[in-house]
Amino acid sequence: MIRRFIDKLLKKPARQKKLVHGHPLTPKKIIKRTHHINPELLSKNAVKVTHVLQEAGFEAYIVGGAVRDLLLGIAPKDFDVATNATPEQVQKLFRRSRLIGRRFQIVHVTFYGKERPEIIEVSTFRAHVQADQADVAASGRILRDNVWGNQAEDATRRDFSINAMYYDPQTETVLDYHNGMQDLNAKIIRMIGEPSQRYREDPVRMLRAIRFAAKTGFTIEKETLSPIHELGSLIQDVPSSRLFDEILKLLMSGHAWASIQGLETVGLHHKILPLIEDILSDSDRTEFVKQSLQNTDDRIKSGKPVSAGFLFATLLWHDVQAAWANFESDSMPSVPALHAAIDQVFEQQKEFLGMQRRHEADMREIWTMQPRLEKRVGRYPYRLVESPKFKAGYDFLLLRCQTHEIEAEIGQWWTDFWQGDEHVRAELMQIVKNMPNSAQNTSAPKKRRRRNRSKAAKTTAEQAN
Ligand code: ATP
Ligand code: MG
Repeated sequence: MIRRFIDKLLKKPARQKKLVHGHPLTPKKIIKRTHHINPELLSKNAVKVTHVLQEAGFEAYIVGGAVRDLLLGIAPKDFDVATNATPEQVQKLFRRSRLIGRRFQIVHVTFYGKERPEIIEVSTFRAHVQADQADVAASGRILRDNVWGNQAEDATRRDFSINAMYYDPQTETVLDYHNGMQDLNAKIIRMIGEPSQRYREDPVRMLRAIRFAAKTGFTIEKETLSPIHELGSLIQDVPSSRLFDEILKLLMSGHAWASIQGLETVGLHHKILPLIEDILSDSDRTEFVKQSLQNTDDRIKSGKPVSAGFLFATLLWHDVQAAWANFESDSMPSVPALHAAIDQVFEQQKEFLGMQRRHEADMREIWTMQPRLEKRVGRYPYRLVESPKFKAGYDFLLLRCQTHEIEAEIGQWWTDFWQGDEHVRAELMQIVKNMPNSAQNTSAPKKRRRRNRSKAAKTTAEQAN
């Protein structure tokens, strides 16, 4: 407190006219009466982090998407804090903190409460590095971004004006360097700086523009939108693991289907994401994915968990089915054919998406459970309902029923079996026993709709010739 007071006394007043790369050094100060942020939507932990940093004499603000969401009256799903303390200084102030990242160093401060732990991401104000000062790839993509700066510089290197506001929970003031509040009121997504240069520095910003437009319903301003058509292919340069993270954010935004449609509108789907292009060019597949993403959106909006494995299992299911049918038609038995198909699909995707092994394991589990769920023989159904993996495979089965890929009766059978007591279960097993062969025999769908046009399917066809 005292140090802050002395710092204040010693600090020269900022000169009004000074600019950072053409942007004002002094922000607009927006007071509570104007911004109406509801303090109840704040994370106590984020407030605590800003408070501890300020008490130690540093500047600290809630920043980015959290401020955007607070101004929109939405409870932010996570909180970021920006400060002039270096990552090492931050780490010293918080016992449960961890330095992470190379390209972009930040500190994660973890709080354990009654519910799941909350991580507050604390980043040090960064300067907007120019191409000649930074570690930059030939395409203009910035590889490292760890040059510290002041708050005005930090604001300038953020992506969109609505994402570049700072909120001090102690004074309840919002600092706005780039007319973010004005754009927020006008419902506009506007890139800070020269849009094509900013996309070249980090092509992921194109995906972010689409995601925020889908999430907020805002319009992407013309100059921010137009370079995307031309620069879309730069996404190919982004490391596949980062691309996976960004696509996951997009799919888990609660507005996944709108985001996918947004990607299609700007032509990003076919330039960069063969997976999404395939989905949108096959009507059966579109229906399945649309249904699944709408379910996902509903789950997220009602606060239910969604797993990445489940999501990608739905996106890639038709690829798996096509490859499975191919292997079976090469006389491979059904179960090994399914595993071979899964291996092939993972191999195919590796080029684009750096999916983590644990997600792949979940997806394999969900897919291989499908024929077994359809079969319903012996003790297997009894064992399966007790398995912790059952719910994901069962949810996936319900989705297949919902989109008429398989009979709705199978989904209902499992719902009854899952909820039923011993007696009900025995009756259900009897029903299956009395069925003609259909329930006993399942394999890859014989009547494939349209052949998958993806690379691997082509390769398999070529090999067969
Ligand atoms: P969400 O609600 O999805 O968390 P967000 O805007 O908070 O959205 P984050 O990825 O959490 O997104 O990033 C936090 C903030 O960091 C952003 O609001 C933005 O100011 C800045 N930021 C993140 N990614 C970039 C980027 N690629 N380029 C420039 N600034 C970025
Ligand atoms: Mg965020």
